[in-house]
Amino acid sequence: MTVRVGVVGTGMIGRDHVLRLSNVLAGAEVVAVTDVDPVNAAAAVADLPRAVVHPDGQALVEAPDVDAVIVASWGPTHEEYVLACLAAGKPVFCEKPLATSQEACRRILDAEVAVGHRLVQVGFMRRYDPAYRAMKDVVTSGAIGAPLLVHSRHRNPSVPSHYVREMAITDSAVHDFDIVRWLLDEDFVSASVLAPRRSRHGTDLQDPLLIILRTDSGVLVDVETSANSRYGYDVGGEVVGEDGTVALADTNPVVVRREGGFAGAVPAGWRERFVRAYDVELQAWVDALAAGLGATGPSSWDGYAAAVASDAAVQALRTGETVEFRLGPAPALYTDESGR
Ligand code: NAP
Repeated sequence: MTVRVGVVGTGMIGRDHVLRLSNVLAGAEVVAVTDVDPVNAAAAVADLPRAVVHPDGQALVEAPDVDAVIVASWGPTHEEYVLACLAAGKPVFCEKPLATSQEACRRILDAEVAVGHRLVQVGFMRRYDPAYRAMKDVVTSGAIGAPLLVHSRHRNPSVPSHYVREMAITDSAVHDFDIVRWLLDEDFVSASVLAPRRSRHGTDLQDPLLIILRTDSGVLVDVETSANSRYGYDVGGEVVGEDGTVALADTNPVVVRREGGFAGAVPAGWRERFVRAYDVELQAWVDALAAGLGATGPSSWDGYAAAVASDAAVQALRTGETVEFRLGPAPALYTDESGR
């Protein structure tokens, strides 16, 4: 069975997903797109003559020939389109963030629980990265003993002009929050934020930031976000356990030795670093739908958990205080098949 997919939002990642589904992956066809800019939407499917450009997300979701939807528009629009998919009973892959506040995520959770089965997958693609998967295997095997500390770094070479200081948390660190929660299989209970001297490259941003989280068993997690590292897109992670450590290795295919030194390359951006993860993630989504399984990967609950941590970290950034929080119990819908 070919899954007929509609894509809402044909910006950077929406277009990537159109190309991925059309040229790289198997089992799906992009049959519909929409964007606030219809010219942009039409350009995204210029090579797909059967794809229809819809006037808005609601029309696309309701189109009878659309089996499943990818929401890749601007974050503040996610809630509206995910809720529309749930109302139509259609599976939806929503790029992160699931929504821009924990209250909005909660409304999505409640709507999905009312449907009674999972329809939502959130685009936390790091869970599909081979290096992070190998890291999780080591942690869960017990080989390094009980985790005590996690170091996570998330450095962007530069950021767009609309990037404001909170986006270091809501747009960047939200990936780190999710991957650490998944690696440890634990929830966070507090967040604080430290700000060092500002980088001269950060203009009026408070950049970089150090976000400190504590999990419910007491693991301390530090997340460094840099919005203007300049030298490349540099993601790193290390779990320090009682008996050893596990860290992501550099992903260079080659190292060059010359003139008394050696060098490898740092990825230029997120596309390059996580290209394989995006492919595996979306293929898994398509395969699950084709098999009639509904959503199987990162869930609305995971999106909600990341939003709760994000909201707390933003509050900590604004107040300078340590913010304590509790997630509460997950609805039964998410305890068996949350993909954790
Ligand atoms: P982008 O290039 O700005 O694309 C967003 C697109 O959605 C733009 O074309 C925008 O149009 C359009 N849009 C805005 N409101 C809309 C609406 N009401 N209906 C339909 N389309 C609408 O941003 P992006 O980088 O692709 O990011 C899109 C989403 O993906 C964000 O939530 C982002 O956080 C997420 N993302 C995730 C990853 C990841 O690693 N998983 C990586 C990149 C992005 P205008 O430009 O005219 O506003």
